[in-house]
Amino acid sequence: MHLVFAFGLLALVLLVSRGWDDPESPRVVPYSHFLDALDAERISEAWISEGAVEWTERPDPDAPRYRSVRVPGSDEVEIVDRLHGMGASITGEWTEEGWGILLLWLLPLGLLVVFWIWFIRRMAGGGQAEALRFGSSKAKIVDDRAPGVSFDDVAGVDEAVTELREVADFLKNREKYTKVGARIPKGVLLVGPTGTGKTLLARATAGEAGVPFFVISGAEFVEMFVGVGAARVRDLFRQAREKAPCIVFIDEIDGLGKVRAGAGSPVSNEEREQTLNQLLVELDGFDATVGVIIMAATNRPDLLDPALQRPGRFDRQVIVDRPDLKGREAILAIHAKRVQLEPDVDLRVVAARTPGFAGAQLANVVNEAALLAVRSNRGSVSMKDLDEAIDRVMAGLERSSRALIPREKEIVSYHEMGHALVSMLLPNTDPVHKVSIVPRGATTLGSTVQTPLEDRYLLTESELRDRLTVLLGGRAAEQLIYGETSTGAADDLRRATELARRMVTQFGMAEGIGPVALDDDRGSIYGGWAPESRRYSEDTTRTVDREVRAAVEAANTRALDLLEANEPLLRDLASDLQESEVMEGVDLARRIAVQSFP
Ligand code: ADP
Ligand code: MG
Ligand code: ZN
Repeated sequence: MHLVFAFGLLALVLLVSRGWDDPESPRVVPYSHFLDALDAERISEAWISEGAVEWTERPDPDAPRYRSVRVPGSDEVEIVDRLHGMGASITGEWTEEGWGILLLWLLPLGLLVVFWIWFIRRMAGGGQAEALRFGSSKAKIVDDRAPGVSFDDVAGVDEAVTELREVADFLKNREKYTKVGARIPKGVLLVGPTGTGKTLLARATAGEAGVPFFVISGAEFVEMFVGVGAARVRDLFRQAREKAPCIVFIDEIDGLGKVRAGAGSPVSNEEREQTLNQLLVELDGFDATVGVIIMAATNRPDLLDPALQRPGRFDRQVIVDRPDLKGREAILAIHAKRVQLEPDVDLRVVAARTPGFAGAQLANVVNEAALLAVRSNRGSVSMKDLDEAIDRVMAGLERSSRALIPREKEIVSYHEMGHALVSMLLPNTDPVHKVSIVPRGATTLGSTVQTPLEDRYLLTESELRDRLTVLLGGRAAEQLIYGETSTGAADDLRRATELARRMVTQFGMAEGIGPVALDDDRGSIYGGWAPESRRYSEDTTRTVDREVRAAVEAANTRALDLLEANEPLLRDLASDLQESEVMEGVDLARRIAVQSFP
């Protein structure tokens, strides 16, 4: 805007200065030329100003116009008299010389100042005018109508859906609630890990209620300029009030409601605080009966400003957690509706292979599988595609470039087959789904995937001891075959030690300690290990260390014994694995059954 103004001025100046060397402008001649013309009485018209004179000469009426600077002190009256005497038409001109010169100097200077101001504002990232424009444009309505999403598109988060159904019902039948005098929720905060469907749930709530859905993300609120975010909040709520009943959804609100921005953050604390305060003002100023419900989502509730969670603000918290086995199967079913599946596909098996996956990852698995099917020119998705898709989603794309050298491949084969074989030979373990020596991601050389039959919340001591043994199976196989171990077992050892330590200190499963809980989980849940959680003596510490080592060593011996007793089988299977790189659990089970009971 300032730019346009500046260019306008520049154009004006150019125009004015152009006027001075117009081709029509008078020809400048010495003053003597004028005096000659005066003497010869050739002048037909004259324009006289204080410092100059312009004239045209007879007899040629088309003759150029002349201009002379007058010699100071020459007698004005005399010139006028003589001109009059020869019958020339005389025009006096009032010069604005002083002003003209001033203008000539001031104009460029003023221009410079204007440009400079504009530039400074620009440097700061945009002027007030720009900021105000942003203030209203970003608080956007995604859709004036309700989003075409319903609770049927969401699965695995039944408790959250139950709560949000009520919210949707309130928006639909407001009178029902107000008549009884029930207090209506004003703000609903969805809390849960990324990808569990918080955004989806908010949209589904609006879709279910059939009301407009306003969405903005917390980060979008906060701007570089103090006051912009607050303006945006005001604007959003003004729009919402006009469209009530409706849902306002603030996604990733932790971007806005952070307790305090770290040093060096590009966004000033002042702006953050002003925006947050405006939001609080709007929340408080709301009469819930208007029919506007504020929803917000976060995966970092710990970063949220406590002020947001006070009564009358986000007074309802809905936990959106990762789905369990049944939930995962249901989510897979929703997303599999959009793709062609081969008849042999069992989504329950896929769900069993994906513990810990959130909805977004499961959606990703289905999509990756469909892409794989397309890539190999098949019309439908097979179980193999899904299997491969899980691996991809889990650990990034298969890294064909990072091939193992043969010797490494051999070691990894023995190692993984060690895990698998020990697992199959022990009674209390999860079935082996697949053994692979295809490197994936940056650090995984091979993998033995075990599929739990169901999500477990309780494990017995014998199950834990078997798990420990399986963890050491890889290393034991290396030891048995090569007489030494490799660095590949580092992660196994770490996990085994961790498990053994918990058995000793938390589950009371060590004889030397007895049924006593020494550590508890609290330390790990509430931000790391707290020194006061270790409340036992040096002596006990030594016993703990000894018991942990004993448990791991016992598991190691057990794994070694098992593998030793089945060494031919181990060698056989490992060399096959080296060949095929991947071995399915069912095939493995068949081989073992044949070998064990010939
Ligand atoms: P969040 O907001 O919790 O990070 P999103 O709602 O953005 O997660 O989820 C991303 C996508 O993952 C959704 O659009 C949907 O396709 C899928 N998804 C996530 N959770 C679920 C679920 N519980 N049921 C069905 N699909 C889901
Ligand atoms: Mg989201
Ligand atoms: Zn291992």
